[in-house]
Amino acid sequence: MKAIILTIVILVVVGLAIIIQNIVIRHKGYGIPGKIAVRCSKGHVFRTVWIEGGSFKAIRLGPLTRIQHCPVGNHWSIVHPVKE
Ligand SMILES: [Zn+2]
Repeated sequence: MKAIILTIVILVVVGLAIIIQNIVIRHKGYGIPGKIAVRCSKGHVFRTVWIEGGSFKAIRLGPLTRIQHCPVGNHWSIVHPVKE
């Protein structure tokens, strides 16, 4: 029983952490969470869905850095959000 309560507490804390992270990044001027413009390391700009703490298509390296497939150059690259 204690294990179940502990699991629920951890899930709530992780959920709140993701929500807070998204709010903080949105206040910095990025359109996160949502469909935003990103730039790859070769300078291509494309739009992608970016939800902080919950990405399924990309490898996260930090709050504003991740490795994703670039559809413009058809390559994998480190991408960063572009402020709009
Ligand atoms: Zn590219």
